[in-house]
Amino acid sequence: MKTGFLTHELYMWHDTGTASLYLQPGLTVEPDEHAESPKTKRRMRNLMEVSGIMDDLELIKPVAAQHKDITRFHTEDYVARLQKMSNDRGGDAGELTPFGPGSFEIAMLSAGGVISAAEAVWSRQVKNAYALVRPPGHHAEADWGRGFCMFGNVAIAAMKLLAQHGAKRIAVVDWDVHHGNGTQSAFWDRDDVLMISIHQDDLYPKGTGHIDERGEGAGEGYTINVPLPPGSGTGAYEQTFRQIVVPALEAYQPDMIIVSSGFDAGAVDPLGRMMMHSGGYRTLTQMLMDAADKLCGGKLLMAHEGGYSPNLVPYCGLAVMEQLSGVTTDIVDPMLDIMAGYGQQALQQHQAAAIDAACKGVLEALQ
Ligand SMILES: [Zn+2]
Repeated sequence: MKTGFLTHELYMWHDTGTASLYLQPGLTVEPDEHAESPKTKRRMRNLMEVSGIMDDLELIKPVAAQHKDITRFHTEDYVARLQKMSNDRGGDAGELTPFGPGSFEIAMLSAGGVISAAEAVWSRQVKNAYALVRPPGHHAEADWGRGFCMFGNVAIAAMKLLAQHGAKRIAVVDWDVHHGNGTQSAFWDRDDVLMISIHQDDLYPKGTGHIDERGEGAGEGYTINVPLPPGSGTGAYEQTFRQIVVPALEAYQPDMIIVSSGFDAGAVDPLGRMMMHSGGYRTLTQMLMDAADKLCGGKLLMAHEGGYSPNLVPYCGLAVMEQLSGVTTDIVDPMLDIMAGYGQQALQQHQAAAIDAACKGVLEALQ
């Protein structure tokens, strides 16, 4: 079986307009390309093509999500509102989520793409898969879009596997540098999805993703938040996976693992202040592959979220694809040695303390 890869040109046509990073331009702020532009995604796909790895992957065609797939998570009112705005001139889906005409259909194809890739992994059509979709999804909540996200792609795909494909337990590992608040909200009171978010402490959305957010009711203990201090590098991420993520997966015994894959914890990302690099993402991918092999027949899906450095994202993406597929290309990440040489890449004491604090009681709650 090959590794699956999914993308579509329409993902690149979702129009976020102009901004200064993601802030509204005006008379005192010169308009620039919005941070969540097609550029990083297009360059990741282009590097994959140039590297030759595409030839060894099974390309999965995205199918647009159905209305009932979307409304397992989102409210009818929100979906209708987005559709109306998209048919007109676009607008903002809620908070910091600008979109242009036609973005409703593109968002349906984005959520549908993650579903298509999830079904390909679930049915063993492919060994594992990466869905390079846009717009991203992990910040979107039931009745409003947030943080560039219109529909909760990963939550919607997990809900479909649970509702229609006989899955009993899905684990979501969110390594985007921002908190996976939308996915967390989707499964807050449910125990059929284990949600683990590793993110920069109190970055976005403000005030969410703290260690005491652990779910409620039937979902108590099935949400795990690991807020890491700014400046965390590969040492802190690998320790988080060794100490919390992998043991939690082992305790939970999922039927499949879905990763919210943002590369904005990269060392030169404009929206994050972490120090990850392509080698770090490669290692984390292998740790998740090992866990998936042990727990669920290798069933692992990655769905693209953030990542705003056009120079770094493509190399992180290629490293993950090489690891997932076992195919090595001739492409060498020109920034890897530089970033690996940054001071304090190794686990620092204050980072270890933050990981210990996040770990307190979480594994016991899953027993
Ligand atoms: Zn992000």
